[in-house]
Parts: sequence; C-alpha cells; structure tokens
Amino acid sequence: MKRRNLVKSLGVSVLAISMIFATGCSKEGPEAAKGEKAKTEKVYKWKMVTTWPKNFPGLGTGANNVAKLITKMSGGRIQVKVYGAKELVPAFEVFDAVSRGTAEMGHGAAYYWKGKNAAIQFFSTVPFGLTAQEMNGWLYHGGGLKLWTEVYAQYNLVPAAAGNTGVQMGGWFNKEINSLDDLKGLKMRIPGLGGEVFKRAGGTPVTLPGGELYTALQTGALDATEWVGPYNDLAFGFYKVAKYYYYPGWHEPGTTLEAIINKEAFDALPEDLQEIVLNACKVVNQDMLAEYTARNNAALNTLVNEHKVQLRAFPDDVLKELRKISDEVVAELAEKDDTAKRIYASFKTYREQVNDWHEISEKAFLRARSLK
Ligand code: CA
Repeated sequence: MKRRNLVKSLGVSVLAISMIFATGCSKEGPEAAKGEKAKTEKVYKWKMVTTWPKNFPGLGTGANNVAKLITKMSGGRIQVKVYGAKELVPAFEVFDAVSRGTAEMGHGAAYYWKGKNAAIQFFSTVPFGLTAQEMNGWLYHGGGLKLWTEVYAQYNLVPAAAGNTGVQMGGWFNKEINSLDDLKGLKMRIPGLGGEVFKRAGGTPVTLPGGELYTALQTGALDATEWVGPYNDLAFGFYKVAKYYYYPGWHEPGTTLEAIINKEAFDALPEDLQEIVLNACKVVNQDMLAEYTARNNAALNTLVNEHKVQLRAFPDDVLKELRKISDEVVAELAEKDDTAKRIYASFKTYREQVNDWHEISEKAFLRARSLK
C-alpha cells in the first residue's frame, strides 16, 4: 500500500471495525481478528547493511538502534541484523545491495549516491543549507520527504531520515587556512556538494569511507579531511595526524543520515509493521542528534585540553567565497533535470522562509544568550 494512502486507509479500517461491533456482526469480527493474527505471526528476518564501521559511535550505534527498536517494537516479528561496512558489502555498495534485495535495509547518507542522481544530495545536506532542526522541518512538514520517497521509488527503495549529526566541523588540516588560496592544491576528503565547492576553490576532493581516513592522512595520501564532529573525530584519532581543527562545517550544516528499505520488502509488511519500521527511524533521527549535541562538547574539551589540538575558525572572507561558490554549485544542480529542479524549488522556498523565521528566533536568542 502506498504510504500516502496509509492514514486514509487506517481511518477507514477503524471505521469499518467500529461498524462491525456497532452492528453486532459477531461472526465476522472474531474470524477477521483470527485471520489478522495468523497473518501477523509471520517473522521477517532482515539484514541491514551500513556504510559505517561496525558499532562506530553515533553513526554505527544509530544504525544498531534502528534495528533494535524495530525488533523490540514489533515483538520480534521483524528481526533486523546489522552488518558493518565490508561485512556483507563494501560501504559504497549499500544503496545497490538494498535496491536489488541482497539486504532488506541499509543505513548511510544520501550524498554517497550522487553518482545515481546528483539531486539525491539535497536529502543529506547542502553547503550553507539547512541545520538539523530546519532539515527535519523540511522533510517532515515542508514536502522534502515526499520528494525523497518519490525519487527513491525509482531505485526500488523507501527512504527514511534516520539520524542527524548537527552542524559538523570544517575538518582537519596540517596548515593554517588564511585565504582561499590556502585551499589550492590540497587533497581533501570532502564528500557531496561540499566536495564540488572545494574543487572550484582549487582543491582536489576525494570521497573515502570513514574507516580509511586515518591511514590516508597518516601516509600523506590525503592532505586534509573532514569527517563529522568532535565525538566521531576523537574516536578515529585524527588529532594524532593533523594539527588544526577548523570550524564551522559550512559544507555540512545538519547532515541527515538515511535508512533505506527495499521497496518490495517494505510493501510485503502488514501496515502496523510498516509504521513500526518508519517510526523506529524517526525516533533514531531525533535521538542521534540529541546524542551528538550532548557528546560533542565533551569530546571537544578532550581534543583541545588533552590532545592540544589547535582549534581554528575559517576567516569570514574564506566563508564568504565558499558561500558564493556554493550558491552557484547548488543552483547548477537544479538545472540537471526536472526532478532536481523540483527538489531545488522546494528546498529554496523553504530555506528562505525558515531563514527569516530563524533570524528572529534561534539566531536572535543565541545572540541574546551570549551578550556580555
Ligand atoms: Ca562529514
């Protein structure tokens, strides 16, 4: 059943059941209930492949939580087993593996699949785009998830937002960035549209899975890398191989992690289990952001005070230039095809509106709280 009809049909079911009881059709009631029970006793054994190292803090444990919640909330009617990157398929084959049904579910980020359709990147993050709070507003109540569902249906997938990192860090460098020229010639791991912006600023962007970054920095295969934020970057030990830690993560202001579900596997579920799967993702989408918010500050203290990491802000001039290039890159993306055009139109309208609102709410409040 199509999801947009779900609420409608649930309403109809409730009405139908009420009518059965109201009219005293005692035969149909219990028989229907018995049939429903037999149908729902089937156990679905699902595999979830992920783009993260197994049990990686925040991202990997977020994927684990989706699996645990689905298994628990369904009373074991769906049992989800999680596989870390390379356990069943490599990190960047997660999309295809779930699309063809090798695994029923996956957990990753939409910008990893820009090779399939560049417009997909809007559903993870866009440079100078939306914060976590704004992203969730767009997805759940601004038309974003509807577009995402429509696009992924072409790949035999059902998408769900299933985690958010909040504003990321700008990355690890071994030299100071004082002007845009300092980015020229640098080979940096920076995925998605941020990578394209970095390229136009004169750098060489590379997309590598998280698990390969430490060694690449250590051996000099990379000059710089971004990953997530203090909590995750501390876990990978980047402070041992890079000196400067830059902020803010202009390229990833509130990255949405995704759960993808094979469409046939999803459609085969009874409606209550479909709701459990989608709502487990929704719970983790919020919970992961809460975890990052709580843990990043503690990790930043460790990095700066114990490991003597040099914290640096990108100069305003550099940010202004990057913002200018970003606007061009994002607008060009919208010209690729009709799908990209529609997603961009929805995103752009929403960003303008939410920006006006947040100027006088979130931003004004944070400024007020910092007044000396
Ligand atoms: Ca990142």
